[in-house]
Amino acid sequence: MSHTGNSGGLPGSQRITDPASGDQLSEPTRAYAELIAGNRRFVGGVPRHPNQDAGHRAAVADGQHPFAVIVGCSDSRLAAEIIFDRGLGDLFVVRTAGHTAGPEVLGSVEYAVTVLGTPLVVVLGHDSCGAVQAARESVATGTAPSGHLGAVVDSVLPSLRRAEAEGVDDINDIVDIHIAHTVETLLGQSPVLADAVAGGRCAVVGVSYRLAAGAVRPVAAAPAGFATVDPSTGSVESAAPATV
Ligand SMILES: [Zn+2]
Repeated sequence: MSHTGNSGGLPGSQRITDPASGDQLSEPTRAYAELIAGNRRFVGGVPRHPNQDAGHRAAVADGQHPFAVIVGCSDSRLAAEIIFDRGLGDLFVVRTAGHTAGPEVLGSVEYAVTVLGTPLVVVLGHDSCGAVQAARESVATGTAPSGHLGAVVDSVLPSLRRAEAEGVDDINDIVDIHIAHTVETLLGQSPVLADAVAGGRCAVVGVSYRLAAGAVRPVAAAPAGFATVDPSTGSVESAAPATV
C-alpha cells in the first residue's frame, strides 16, 4: 500500500469523542462527522469554503489523502464539495446518473480505499432522482430507453423490484431503497471493500439529500452499528444496517 498516511486526510488533529460515552470515535466515524459538520454549515448558510485557496492548492499538488469517497448521483444540484463544504484534496468523487455502480465505479472506489487509504465511502442519493424516475417510467410504459441510458435504467430495476415487493410506492422512499441497494452492491461486488469494512479500516454509509433543504440523512450503513452522526443535532447515532 502506497498510502503515506496523515490520518487519511482528516482535517485537524483534534480527537473527536462520542459525547454520550466519551469514547474516541473510529477514523471512519470521524470522517463521517467531518462531512456532516460541513453539510450543516452549508444548510445553515455559513460555509467556510475550506481548502479552496491557492496555498492549499499548492500544498496538495504532490499527493492526495481524501478522507471520504463520494459515490453520488450526477445530478447538477448535488456537487459534493459544495454540499459538504469541503475543498481540494478532501473528497474522492465518483458520479453516475442514479449512483449506479458498474465496474469502473467499483474500481475507482477500490483505488481510493486501498491505494489512498480513504476511511469512508458515502453513497449520495437525493429526492426526485431522475434516474429512478426514468426507470419507473420505463417499467410503467414497457418501453426501454434508447442508447446507453438503458444501462442506467437496468441498474435501477433491482431497487424498483424490491420496492414493489415491500409495497413501497413513494418516489423518495424508493430512492432510499435504491441508496441502500447501491451500498449493498458496493459491498457485494467488491471483496476488497468488504474486507476493509470487516477490518475496521473503512465504513460505507448511504445518505439521502434533500434538494430544497440541502440536508443529508443516513439511510443505510456498514458495518452494522456504525456510529453515524445525526445531521440535525450533531449527536452520534446509528443508521439502519445494510443487508448484504
Ligand atoms: Zn439523481
